[in-house]
Amino acid sequence: MSYKPNTICVQSGYTPKNGEPRVLPIYQSTTFKYESSEQMGRLFDLSESGYFYTRLQNPTNDAVAAKICELEGGAAAMLTSSGQAATFYSLFNICGAGDHIVASSAIYGGSFNLIAVTMKRMGIEATFLHPDVSEDELAAAFRPNTKAVFAEVLANPALVVLDIEKFARQAHAHGVPLIVDNTFPTPINCRPFEFGADIVTHSTTKYMDGHATAVGGAIVDSGNFDWLAHADKYPGLTTPDESYHGVTYAKDFGKAGYITKATAQIMRDLGSIQSPQNAFLLNLGLETLALRVERHCQNALAVAKHLESHPKVSWVNYPGLESSRYHELAKKYLPKGSSGVISFGVKGSREDAVHFMDSLKLGAIVTHVADARTCLLHPASTTHRQMTDEQLLEAGVTPDLIRLSVGIEDVDDIIADIDQALEKID
Ligand SMILES: *Cc1c(COP(=O)(O)O)cnc(C)c1O
Repeated sequence: MSYKPNTICVQSGYTPKNGEPRVLPIYQSTTFKYESSEQMGRLFDLSESGYFYTRLQNPTNDAVAAKICELEGGAAAMLTSSGQAATFYSLFNICGAGDHIVASSAIYGGSFNLIAVTMKRMGIEATFLHPDVSEDELAAAFRPNTKAVFAEVLANPALVVLDIEKFARQAHAHGVPLIVDNTFPTPINCRPFEFGADIVTHSTTKYMDGHATAVGGAIVDSGNFDWLAHADKYPGLTTPDESYHGVTYAKDFGKAGYITKATAQIMRDLGSIQSPQNAFLLNLGLETLALRVERHCQNALAVAKHLESHPKVSWVNYPGLESSRYHELAKKYLPKGSSGVISFGVKGSREDAVHFMDSLKLGAIVTHVADARTCLLHPASTTHRQMTDEQLLEAGVTPDLIRLSVGIEDVDDIIADIDQALEKID
């Protein structure tokens, strides 16, 4: 029986048996006990599934990963300690020194840095393209050693909506998977697998947790990409892993091959596991995800419309507005709403924008988005400060851009707070 998203949020992942705790328990244990060495050996060989050490797998984490997997309509999923770890693992699971990635330039600053700087130091090259490029330009970015395409469904903070089908078509025409970061829309507003994406990543730190309590990430695999059909490109999945008892992930685990490799090999060696405590908190957040996302979107649309008509606001970027250049793409990929995040420019100087920010009473200045409380940020002086002006513009971030993450408070109070702060500007 397949349930609708509201039901999956509340009920999936953990189903207690008779007499067991109603609420998902926190398995606060690093290790798991077995009666025989032989059985433990089978677990190590991956010939039997079970838990032995929390760095690789933990029952609390797995229940939460299963819920996220179901929300996305995927085949297998895993949690990571952060969204950054999810992005890195999703790529490093299929790329190594000498390989190449095609990436959207309109992505989260941390993801850009990871790919452009840190992964480059590992010998992995990347070509960044604005997601609005023509299909021909996109096609021209591929090289024989390209192993993945990476993009954000709704870019943080640029709010560019990805034409997922265009990217999927080109990725598949070049025999590589499309990996998309679906953090902002969440599976409530977009299920990228339905449009051809192969792998989805999340910073669960944002709407999924929703209360700003736990940093975390997730990777979900659709199971649709045929690694064996491109065996030469992906030897890590299609030839025996001598570091793991000779298993061949894509053959031995089918649709779970990619996630099994990321767990058994990458997580084993790099260790960015989510703590079961955080997974428990994440699960509480997920229970209300569908409700919250709906309210975030309602409030944000009302605030965006208000800002658009305000004389002290020079521009508003929200895909739900008809004035947005991404309105058509948003209607196709995000018909229920994009997210609670809006960007806009305050008329006047950079100082005026800062004055506006400092005058807010309800909205808080924090390096965060997508939690229940309304919050604001000026990316050019914070999250994106390591980028050159040119890179900033490439990522769609202007120096006057204010990112407003609309919370689930009463929308009248949010608008009143913004209005009184705009009043303070001369
Ligand atoms: C925050 C964020 C990340 C990084 O996630 P962390 O949990 O902070 O490591 C990645 N992608 C997007 C779109 C984000 O908003």
